[in-house]
Amino acid sequence: MTLDAAWAVDWVRRSAATVAEHRDELVELDRQIGDGDHGENLDRGFRAVVAKLDGLDTPPASVGDVLRLVATTLMSTVGGAAGPLYGTAYLRASKSGTASELGPDGVVALLEAALDGIVTRGRAGAGEKTMVDAWTAAVAAAVDAADHGAPPSAVLAAAARGAHDGAESTVPLVATKGRASYLGERSAGHLDPGARSSELILLAAAQAAE
Ligand code: ADP
Ligand code: MG
Ligand code: MG
Repeated sequence: MTLDAAWAVDWVRRSAATVAEHRDELVELDRQIGDGDHGENLDRGFRAVVAKLDGLDTPPASVGDVLRLVATTLMSTVGGAAGPLYGTAYLRASKSGTASELGPDGVVALLEAALDGIVTRGRAGAGEKTMVDAWTAAVAAAVDAADHGAPPSAVLAAAARGAHDGAESTVPLVATKGRASYLGERSAGHLDPGARSSELILLAAAQAAE
């Protein structure tokens, strides 16, 4: 599959579907170390994104156009910590490349831009038990795959595996950013909800590229 605007639309639709499917799981994860709204917040946001896509008269012309629509919609509908974080991630990603289709380096640039956006907005580094852990591992795996000559779909598949490992790595960590940090040591032993949703979204990107 070519990583063009149609891929980006498919990525967004798959993201909405997987967030809806895992909504209760995300709520439960956030109930354990937060306020229990992460699944609801993201599900509301992605439903709004799909409604916007469905209402367009002409299909989006570029990957950047699709990601910009996601960014502005999530920022205005998700709220909480995740709304601005994901919103900034998609906004940065939308500006990362204006090419009509992404090659391996384009995929890496998109993921790096998204991570940069999250870090700029949330000021968390890796190891603080946030979505940054999933994105950091995703970027590292994507860079490695691209360096080894992988095609774009395989770079995304590597990113999705990286995101999974990065999300799992949050379980033993003590949160030092976000609402979970209020729990201190008691945050250890739980998967971070934002890292889990990031993993789901990156898996959706890889599946849309298959
Ligand atoms: P809220 O905590 O406002 O209810 P959500 O529940 O929607 O927002 O999102 C919580 C997720 O946001 C966390 O699981 C974590 O991954 C992420 N998060 C919170 N604060 C930060 C931060 N400063 N940097 C990066 N990610 C963060
Ligand atoms: Mg919450
Ligand atoms: Mg909240």
